[in-house]
Amino acid sequence: MKTLNLKTAEEIELIRESALIVSKTLGMLAKEVQPGVTTLQLDNLAETFIRDHGAIPGFLGLYDFPNTLCVSPNEQVVHGIPNNTPLKEGDIISIDCGALKNDFYGDHAYTFPVGEIATEIQKLLEVTKASLYEGIKAFKKNNRVGDVGYAIQNYCESYGYGVVRELVGHGLGRVMHEEPEMPNYGKRGRGKKFADGMVVAIEPMINMGTQRIKHHSDGWTITTRDNRPSAHFEHNIAMVDGKPELLSTFAYINEALGIETEEELEFKR
Ligand code: MG
Ligand code: MG
Repeated sequence: MKTLNLKTAEEIELIRESALIVSKTLGMLAKEVQPGVTTLQLDNLAETFIRDHGAIPGFLGLYDFPNTLCVSPNEQVVHGIPNNTPLKEGDIISIDCGALKNDFYGDHAYTFPVGEIATEIQKLLEVTKASLYEGIKAFKKNNRVGDVGYAIQNYCESYGYGVVRELVGHGLGRVMHEEPEMPNYGKRGRGKKFADGMVVAIEPMINMGTQRIKHHSDGWTITTRDNRPSAHFEHNIAMVDGKPELLSTFAYINEALGIETEEELEFKR
């Protein structure tokens, strides 16, 4: 059971506290994502916000990453580095954010539209977000790692999208990336069995076209091989009484953007 990294109820509450700081940070950024803003400006806002909430940016310095946010526009999959290029109407931007407080991490992500976006790109965002909840539904008693991966893969591939293989979700706690790895693909009934006290980050990275990616020479940026768009949504979830319980929330984002949804309801305490 060691590699499941089971958490006590108290530890889960500390992870929730860190996760909610990330949720609020993303909610604050939701209003700032506009044509003309640079990702470095977003990064500065996020760092100040996180520190003002008594936490430390979770990514800054982690594996020597240089910033608070991973910002990945359009064909970038994940791990993009903030820069001075302004966002433009029709872009999408995946923002992944971490916070460390009381020695525990929160870590989640959302892909934002910049102004009006093409219908087919909007569909990619909707399907990727919905696949995250399909994965979360499968994070329950008697299921295994492969059941979550299968749920996400099956859902996204039914729309003809590519499911990235090289990058995966993970356990979460005192370490940002703990065992077990949580792939977004898999076979039902395979892999480690879930147990109460597990805390994971589930994070589908879904490409409109090919699942294949390429790594860039800055050592961080990852893009789709065919340069078509990619989306990324991530939540932090604990298993409590055999059921998935969301520790993070998109409620602050939804409030900022005027989105009404009940998608998180079944995963609330
Ligand atoms: Mg993340
Ligand atoms: Mg993560």
